[in-house]
Amino acid sequence: MTAKAIFITGGASGIGLAVAKHFAAQGWRVGLADVNAAGLEAAKAGFAADKVNTYVMDVRDRGQWDAALKDFVAASGGRLDVMFNNAGIAVGGTFADTSAEDMDRVLGININGVIYGAYAAHPYLKATPGSCLVNTASAAGIYGSAGLALYSAGKFAVRGLSEALDGEWAPDGIKVRVLMPSFIDTPLLDTVAPGTNRTAREGVRDAGLEFTPVEVVAKAVWDGVHGDKVHLIVGKTAKRLAFAARWMPGAIRKQARNRILETRRG
Ligand code: NAD
Repeated sequence: MTAKAIFITGGASGIGLAVAKHFAAQGWRVGLADVNAAGLEAAKAGFAADKVNTYVMDVRDRGQWDAALKDFVAASGGRLDVMFNNAGIAVGGTFADTSAEDMDRVLGININGVIYGAYAAHPYLKATPGSCLVNTASAAGIYGSAGLALYSAGKFAVRGLSEALDGEWAPDGIKVRVLMPSFIDTPLLDTVAPGTNRTAREGVRDAGLEFTPVEVVAKAVWDGVHGDKVHLIVGKTAKRLAFAARWMPGAIRKQARNRILETRRG
């Protein structure tokens, strides 16, 4: 029997790389896709040479999606068991101060990139029994986060797409999952909000919030692929937010407004 196969965007770093390691340890073939060519080359060294394929690609480019998936499925013996649509970026700062370039970049990568990936993967997933699409959203897709308006908008879009496809693709035998973690200590948290000199990582620390180890996220993806839940909510803050969004949304709203007022007062 040919090994099961997972294709991962954002595979050179952070959550994507940790998920790749977790699945590879279970004997899976992994396809790592990323814009970061040097990062991919370094990541590749951590896998058995005959069980890994790498693709330098930009998730905003439909042509690159088609070429990479065609090549990967040929290498895997015709199967695509899991498509992990995970590449993403963070752009912080107030909505009104966001540049047009940053706006297009974050929406292009975090929304269009995920949509193009799901679309390009569909025929291969449909042809592989028991397959699964996993899209990475965020805790920012549970309740909109003041100071991260565009990021939240993108993650809500990913969540909506996932919930819709979970129903739409059920007759094709394709499971769909949406990963919604709170804070994971990856390079994504190096992001500095415009007009400040503090990274997102420092913001998490200052607020006394937790970091969830990347291996915990990888295991949650593995369990999600093999379980029955659509929403994979990972991390203490994400779980608390999901509870509060359902039962006491007024408290989240009040807290967010107070936090923004305090920031403005300096
Ligand atoms: P990361 O920066 O370590 O990894 C993201 C990877 O995506 C990088 O290797 C980057 O080169 C790649 N990438 C960026 N733009 C790309 C593009 N256009 N095409 C292809 N690849 C591209 O960050 P991470 O934390 O592992 O982030 C992975 C996902 O998890 C993102 O979607 C992010 O929004 C989400 N997430 C992260 C956190 C966190 O706290 N780190 C929390 C919730 C959700």
